[in-house]
Amino acid sequence: MNLSAEVHDFLLNDVIERFLKYVQVWTTSDSNSSTHPSSLNQLDLGKILVEELKELGLENIVHDEFGYVYADLPSSKGLENAQPIGLIAHLDTSYAVSGKDVKPIIHENYGGGPIKLPNVEDLNITLEDAPELEEYIGLDIITSSGDTLLGADDKAGIAEIMTACRIWQKYSEFKHGPITICFTPDEEIGKGTEKINKSRLPEACYTLDGGKMGELEYECFDAWLAEIKFIGLSVHPGHAKNKMINAIHIASRFFSNIPESESPEHTEEREGFFHLNHLKGDEEEATAKLLIRDHDSNNNERRIGYVKSLKNLFETRYLGLKIELNFTHQYKNMLSYMEKDMHVIEIAKKAIEESGLEVDSPAIRGGTDGARLSEMGIPTPNLFGGGSLFHSRKEFIPTLGMLKATEVILNLAHLWTLEQKK
Ligand SMILES: [Zn+2]
Repeated sequence: MNLSAEVHDFLLNDVIERFLKYVQVWTTSDSNSSTHPSSLNQLDLGKILVEELKELGLENIVHDEFGYVYADLPSSKGLENAQPIGLIAHLDTSYAVSGKDVKPIIHENYGGGPIKLPNVEDLNITLEDAPELEEYIGLDIITSSGDTLLGADDKAGIAEIMTACRIWQKYSEFKHGPITICFTPDEEIGKGTEKINKSRLPEACYTLDGGKMGELEYECFDAWLAEIKFIGLSVHPGHAKNKMINAIHIASRFFSNIPESESPEHTEEREGFFHLNHLKGDEEEATAKLLIRDHDSNNNERRIGYVKSLKNLFETRYLGLKIELNFTHQYKNMLSYMEKDMHVIEIAKKAIEESGLEVDSPAIRGGTDGARLSEMGIPTPNLFGGGSLFHSRKEFIPTLGMLKATEVILNLAHLWTLEQKK
């Protein structure tokens, strides 16, 4: 769909204005908190959005005790039977960097080279940090002032969804079926779906929480946790010959058999790994946690088989040693839930292509809220929001990224009007 000059300008101004407003609301989540939401300031942004959603004519608006915001947009006239979709973005920002008193700066007409962040001496965004900058020459780029993150993750997603609602309200030629909007708290601490009201969500949803223009993510890791206990025998070290079974020392030898080439620091893209992230103990007992990750579950089965074979080897080598293995499946590659219904992905690809972008589908090296929703039975791929260098003081977003993401939402909603309610 081509936007007229009028719609283009209106959309761009609206999405920039909303984005600049939202990033200035402090919504850092707190991984040490056990409350929902983890930080009360997330409710401040929720309240602002509730008021705006009312102005935009949405219905059944709820801001619940956990901080979730839900709202329904009735379909365009005559499209009541179109398949409903959900649009999701998260309210919080990462605790990795301060998100308080964000002072966004628009660098107009980027001329190439490093972008200086004024509030911190010698802090620049360079081409090494973000090679995509090369493609952004001539664009307006928004950054923080250097002393905080920007919060494009995920306030760009929120602004893009809100602006799409504004376009639907103002320009009736943009058709859509029933749409549910959901803004979630605490995504950054892995709790974005913990208290979600699944009954409010349609059968197909999209998160707007991805990076660069064109990205569409629907694959993540298949994830296992191996908890390993070594049970040894302590004896006075002066009289230990042929008697002591030193659990912690044996454990260290055990893990030296894990191939270094299969570690997070030596892998990328679609390569999986073992990640030892806890080892503690003494002569009597040692405990360890080993994360096992791969996009292909067969590779993880091979890794699990290898750990089991090491157990047998070590119990044979050290008579009297006991090794207990406990494997927990943490989450599945979300693709395995989507394969039944690739439709949700195909429509998203088409919506991106219609906005004039090439689709890029990197496999996520981690999990996402979309993965958890997919597991709950709601296939939820992740669409780009347009930003780069998330969780960093160097985070930035070209305004064109927000324009394109909003355009993709409009295309997506239109494409879904061609699908009938199941
Ligand atoms: Zn995010």
